[in-house]
Amino acid sequence: MNDTQTTETQVELLAELNGAKCRCGKKKQTGNTFCSRCYHALPFGLQGQLYLRFGQGYEAVYARCAKKLDAKGSGRA
Ligand SMILES: [Zn+2]
Repeated sequence: MNDTQTTETQVELLAELNGAKCRCGKKKQTGNTFCSRCYHALPFGLQGQLYLRFGQGYEAVYARCAKKLDAKGSGRA
C-alpha cells in the first residue's frame, strides 16, 4: 500500500496544485489546492488535512474534499 511510485492520479493532482485553476473552473493561487470559495466550503477538519504532503495522505484527503464539493454542488464550472 505504501507505494512510493508516482501514480497518474498524483501527477494530475500535482499539476492541479501547481496550476492557477481550481477544479471548479475559477482562478486560484498556485500552490493552493482549491480556490478560496471551494476551500471555505470544506469542513474545517478537511481544510487542515490539505496541508498533508504528497504520499502522506494528501491524495486521499483531496478525494474526500472533491466528494464533499461535488455533493455541495459547488464543483460546477
Ligand atoms: Zn474552486
